[in-house]
Amino acid sequence: MRNAESVTFGAATLDRAAHLRKSAPKLAKNASTKAIVFWRGKPLVDTKTSMLTRVPIDHLILNGSNTQIFLGLIANTAIFAYDISNWEPDAEQQADDAAFVDQTLQHHPKAPKGSAFQEVRSIMALLSRDDAELAAAAKGVFGWHLSHGFCAKCGAATEITEAGWQRDCPACRASHFPRTDPVVIMLITHGNNVLLGRSPAWPEKMYSLLAGFMEPGETIEAAVRREVFEESGITVGNVGYMTSQPWPFPSSLMIGCYGTATSITIKLDENELDDAQWVSKEKIVDVLCGNSDDILPSRKGSIAQFLIENWVKDSIA
Ligand SMILES: [Zn+2]
Repeated sequence: MRNAESVTFGAATLDRAAHLRKSAPKLAKNASTKAIVFWRGKPLVDTKTSMLTRVPIDHLILNGSNTQIFLGLIANTAIFAYDISNWEPDAEQQADDAAFVDQTLQHHPKAPKGSAFQEVRSIMALLSRDDAELAAAAKGVFGWHLSHGFCAKCGAATEITEAGWQRDCPACRASHFPRTDPVVIMLITHGNNVLLGRSPAWPEKMYSLLAGFMEPGETIEAAVRREVFEESGITVGNVGYMTSQPWPFPSSLMIGCYGTATSITIKLDENELDDAQWVSKEKIVDVLCGNSDDILPSRKGSIAQFLIENWVKDSIA
């Protein structure tokens, strides 16, 4: 089974065509080239079909864009992403940055009819596979540009090169590349039960698999055992890898693993988790069907749900 291609954001149909990055300015003049548009991390989407709005490369909405990325080719069409975060929507259209999922829509006056800026989390399970990959790549790279404008070596302002995939420092000549932060997320089981936890920031009653950032000098297996022990006090024996998922919130790569617990008594790290508990497979089926009063499932489209569903179907590995 090719698992990674089955998870949201994992389509891998985009030909990144890195050899064309240097000729991106020429491609940007080609009439067949298309652009997708981002505003403060939110893509422009057709609100009825949840498809990314693709506009011709000379479309008026792209005027005033501060950053562009040549994403690559899809079916031989060159696709760029344009960031127009400098646009200021009116007072009624402000984004809800404090919400777990920003449900607001922003309608740009020059946008094609029926399209609006929408948060990726709110539509990730509705996007086509091609679109989800484009959105993840563009959101990840734009997010990196926003927070990496200065050289980490000498502090000088850096310049965008390689069609948006690199920043170079004119002062010390250092090159900087978009970061991807590896995160282990693990389905830990003990017999018929799976270990679930909830983070204080999540919506009420929402539970998911434990997860955490990998540290330098650590294997994936060691990170799984360390994170589970730190957060829940549970010790883990065998660890296996199942699949990965780009997770552009803001720049993670989720590494989906499974592991067998060698202890059952939970000792919660209250700084990290609100709660953790063992949940039986029968109860998980109720949770997935929406028949549980006390546990809400992880978000549709997340790798956590992918792993849990495969465990329920006995198709882990
Ligand atoms: Zn520098």
